[in-house]
Amino acid sequence: MREMLKEVNPDRIRKTVSTLVGFGTRHTLSQQNSSTRGIGAARDWIYDEMLKSDLTRNDRNRVYLDSYIQDQAPGILFPVNLTNVVGMVRGTEDPKRVYVVTAHYDSRALDPDDHASDAPGADDNASGVAVVMEMFRICAKRQPRATMIFAATAGEEQGSYGATHLASSLTEAGYNIGGNWNNDIVGTGKNAPYEVINGHTIRVFGASIFYPNSSTAAEETSVAAQGGWNDSPSQNLGRFIAEVATGAWNELNMQVALIYRPDRIGRGGDHESFLAQGWPAIRFTESVEDFAHQHQDPRIEGNKTIGDLLEFVDYDYTARVARVNLASMWAAANAPALPKEVKVSENVGQLATSRNTPLEDMQNEIQLTWMVGKDALADHYEIVYRPSGELQWSHSVVVGNAGSTRLQLSKDNFQIGLRAVGADGLKSPAVNVLPPFII
Ligand SMILES: [Zn+2]
Repeated sequence: MREMLKEVNPDRIRKTVSTLVGFGTRHTLSQQNSSTRGIGAARDWIYDEMLKSDLTRNDRNRVYLDSYIQDQAPGILFPVNLTNVVGMVRGTEDPKRVYVVTAHYDSRALDPDDHASDAPGADDNASGVAVVMEMFRICAKRQPRATMIFAATAGEEQGSYGATHLASSLTEAGYNIGGNWNNDIVGTGKNAPYEVINGHTIRVFGASIFYPNSSTAAEETSVAAQGGWNDSPSQNLGRFIAEVATGAWNELNMQVALIYRPDRIGRGGDHESFLAQGWPAIRFTESVEDFAHQHQDPRIEGNKTIGDLLEFVDYDYTARVARVNLASMWAAANAPALPKEVKVSENVGQLATSRNTPLEDMQNEIQLTWMVGKDALADHYEIVYRPSGELQWSHSVVVGNAGSTRLQLSKDNFQIGLRAVGADGLKSPAVNVLPPFII
């Protein structure tokens, strides 16, 4: 892992961002018949670079264009060939389980329909594309146990059309998407104030269990009644990423700020396409945004430079973001899958229902069962827990490989999860352990 992280190269990130900016605009409706301007030029360049990155030339890896014709629709003024550029590194042991890192490569000016003017999109989102391309270059020569997918998407600024198409084509192909790491606006930590902290912080947005379309009203009521809002699969993916970043602090020098929101208020991104299709998904965005540097027509007003320009990108910061992505996605793709069929006893740790209720069940204890023996990568399991108001897991207890355990742990006082651990110590994200009572 250390070797991989060292391969993230800020100079290459600079080259990627500056080349993408050099295409003038990458608006989804811009021209596709030029090699120097427009989204077609950007698409072809990313594709060629990803092909060049895959030095193995083996049939485990694949670089392909995920294209379709998007008809006229909100934000899409006329039918357009919309293309995601995708690199895939197939897993050696659990290839149907996939982790997907995305970044949109389209850009926009102030007027969302303006597909002719310059829209440099350096921070939003050439920076994210540079993260995806670095990760593919580094992972393509290695062999993760589960599959890793690296995608530059189009149509995000019009409503995540490309990401929706990618998520549904992977779903239809039978992949089990373990998580989407979406990078969008990851170009700088220099925005005031507190640059010293911001330069070493990356936000991770994770939606609650209720967003966007979690389940039935009865299930939502049950989750709410048990205080399970902030233990969604996406939030547990965020916790996993934050924990990896803390563990690899010396290599990453980056803290993860977990935020219990699907995205910044009133805004959205490609991860929501994965969320909408039922998969865990989080968004990385720089710690503080400068809104004058996004979705703008480049210009100078007074002494203020407005526009999403190259000069505002800090390549060392984007490299740190890339390392957080790489460390966490590589860890997930080499760890066991999430524990399955996790159940909590409804009898243990409760009031008596009759004089015959065993006294030992009336303790502040929790009894869990889960499925074992189906995941060759799972060596044993761990309970994790935290005081209810905390963001991150604060305790872990090894609970073996029997598929059941009973612990002196009050389900009323803690948020509790279960995770699988591989023989080499790599851990899956946690699965929320909620009592199954339906109100
Ligand atoms: Zn964006």
